[in-house]
Amino acid sequence: MVIVGGGFGGLYTALALAGKRQHPPLLLIEPNERFLFLPLLYELLSGELRSWEIAPRYDTLLAGRGVAWLRDRVQSIDADARTLTTAGGRTLPFSRLVMATGGDTESFGIPGVMEHALFFRTLHDVEKLRQLVDTLRLRRTALQRIAVVGAGPSGVELACKLADLIDGSAVVELIEQGPTALPQAKAFNREQALAALQRRDVRLRTGLGVTALEAQQLRLSDGSSLAVEATVWTAGLRLNPPPIHPAPARDSRGRLLCTPELQLHQHPHLFAVGDVAALPDEPLPATAQVAFQQADCLADNLMRADAGEALKPFSFNDLGEMLSLGVGEATLTGMGVTLAGKAAFQLRRLAYLARLPGTPHQLRVAAGWLADWGR
Ligand SMILES: Cc1cc2nc3c(=O)[nH]c(=O)nc-3n(C[C@H](O)[C@H](O)[C@H](O)COP(=O)(O)OP(=O)(O)OC[C@H]3O[C@@H](n4cnc5c(N)ncnc54)[C@H](O)[C@@H]3O)c2cc1C
Repeated sequence: MVIVGGGFGGLYTALALAGKRQHPPLLLIEPNERFLFLPLLYELLSGELRSWEIAPRYDTLLAGRGVAWLRDRVQSIDADARTLTTAGGRTLPFSRLVMATGGDTESFGIPGVMEHALFFRTLHDVEKLRQLVDTLRLRRTALQRIAVVGAGPSGVELACKLADLIDGSAVVELIEQGPTALPQAKAFNREQALAALQRRDVRLRTGLGVTALEAQQLRLSDGSSLAVEATVWTAGLRLNPPPIHPAPARDSRGRLLCTPELQLHQHPHLFAVGDVAALPDEPLPATAQVAFQQADCLADNLMRADAGEALKPFSFNDLGEMLSLGVGEATLTGMGVTLAGKAAFQLRRLAYLARLPGTPHQLRVAAGWLADWGR
C-alpha cells in the first residue's frame, strides 16, 4: 500500500494504519526530510516554539512503526497497471494508493507573484521571513512597510505575529480582495482577530486586489500602488496532484472527485485524503482538522477494502477553530468554549500537543515544555 505525500492526510493515515493489527506493508513517499506541523508555523517564526518540535524528521517518526519511507517525489501514476514513477527514476507497483499531496501557492496568474513574493509554507520560508524581520528592526528607517496579501486565517495570523516581531520598525499592510477579513471564521474569532489587528496598528485594506507585484512595489485594483520592503503572499491554494492515467474526474479547483468513502471515482484502488480530496455535497474547508479526521476514516476503509468488507462514508465533525493572534495570544471557538488572550494561547498549544504525530514525539515535546516552565 503506497501513500503519496507525508503531510497531515498522508502521515496520519500511515500512522493510523501502522497502529492496526495485520496491516499490509506500507510505503510513504515524501520528498521532504521533515514533517511540518503547519498550524504552529507562526510560533516557529516568533521563536515561541523550536523547529524540532514542529518539524520532526520522518525517519524518527516512523522508526519501528512498520512504515517504510522513500524520500522521493511521485511524478505519475498508472492506475490500470497499478504502478507509479518517481522523480528519482523508480517505477514501483502498488495494490492500493492514497493521494495525499496537498496544495501549494496559488498566484492566480498575477504578474510578479512567483518572482517577488515571500511565502509561508516551509522552513525555508520561515528563515527568509526571520531575515526580513531582522533587517527591518536593524534598519529602522522611516516609512518601512511590508504587505501581507490575503486576509484569510494564514494572512491574519501572520500579520499579527509579524507586527509583534518587527515591533514598530515597519507598518504591516494586510490586503484583502474580499469585503472582510476572515469571511469563513466563527464570529467570535473574527471579532477578536479584528481587535488584535487594530491593537497592533496593522492596516487592513479590504475590497482591494493585487494586480501586479514588483520587487518593492504592489499595484492595486483601484489603480494605486504601494511601496513596500517585501510582500508575503498567503492568498489561495493551488491543487496540482501528479498526473494519473487514465485521468480521474477533478473539480473546478483541481481537486480529485471522491466518493463519500474517499475513493476516487472510476479508480477503486486509488483513494485521496486532505486538501486534494473533493467529497460530494460537502464543501469541506482545506484544513488540518479535516485531514486528521479523514486519515482515521481512510485507514479503516483501507483495512476494510483489504478484507473485502464494505467501506464507511466519511463524516466531518467540526471541533471548532483556533487562531494565533500575535506573540502569546490566540482566540478559539469550539466545543462550547469561546476564549481569547493568553489562556487561549496556552489551550491552543495543548490542543495541538495532543495532535502532534505519534505519542513518542508528543512526549518529547511535552517534556521540553515542562523543562521550560521549570526554568
Ligand atoms: C501556514 C499555514 C497554517 C495553517 N494553519 C492551520 C490551522 O491552524 N488549522 C488547520 O486546521 N489547518 C491549517 N492549515 C491548513 C493545513 O495545514 C492543511 O489543510 C493541511 O496541511 C492539509 O493536509 P494535506 O495532507 O492535504 O496536505 P499537506 O499537509 O500540505 O501535505 C502534502 C504533502 O505532500 C507532499 N507532496 C506533494 N507533492 C508530492 C508528490 N508529487 N510526491 C510525494 N509527495 C508529495 C508534500 O511535500 C507535503 O508534505 C494551515 C496551512 C498553512 C500553510
